[in-house]
Amino acid sequence: PEKKVLIVYAHQEPKSFNGSLLKIAVEELTKQGCSVTVSDLYAMQFEPRATRNDIFPLFWFNMPAILKGWMDRVLVQGFAYDLSKVYDGGLLQGKLSLFSFTTGGSKEKYAIRGDIRYLLWPMQHGIMHFCGVKVLEPHICYAPENVSEEKRKEMLAAWSQRLKTLWKEEPIDCSPEWYFK
Ligand code: FAD
Ligand code: ZN
Repeated sequence: PEKKVLIVYAHQEPKSFNGSLLKIAVEELTKQGCSVTVSDLYAMQFEPRATRNDIFPLFWFNMPAILKGWMDRVLVQGFAYDLSKVYDGGLLQGKLSLFSFTTGGSKEKYAIRGDIRYLLWPMQHGIMHFCGVKVLEPHICYAPENVSEEKRKEMLAAWSQRLKTLWKEEPIDCSPEWYFK
């Protein structure tokens, strides 16, 4: 059966590097026969504030506010998790997630400041795993603003390449060891 892919995209500028990563993902996954839906949060003017009309989940940690608002408003109790149905028992079992993001800091800087995996703990484990979603290796493009045009093209090509064999990937072992060992 055709795979359904939902890309939740949080960048204001279509001409940005993230915009290019998005375009590649849509093209490649569509070519593979996946049905691809893009939630372009800024273009949709997505309302990130959860109001009294929403069923309220817990409080997540850090990502662009608009994306966090999406998590807050979409991954609600009764749909994504329930009080006794969390982590491997979460309600979104059978789904896969992948966090693709870019940084301002270089890979070396992150090695000094602390492993970037610490930042992924709340997103991958605290949100996705909590809801029963398995997690693929994150895709991180370090400092696209500060590298050469050639290096940027290389990073985009690597993303395109990865997507070709995406469905063969095994999820990570989303346990504390992966993040903090
Ligand atoms: P852009 O600046 O849009 O792109 C970089 C370059 O790529 C541009 O010159 C663009 O023209 C070019 N480009 C686009 N498409 C292509 C293409 N197809 N081929 C070749 N080149 C192309 N960083 C951290 O590391 N840690 C933080 O905690 C952090 N906090 C931040 C907080 C805020 C509020 C903000 C605004 C930024 C923060 N940053 C942080 C930096 C941020 O992560 C980077 O600015 C961002 O990741 C860069 O991605 P971009 O898509 O905006 O790049
Ligand atoms: Zn986990």
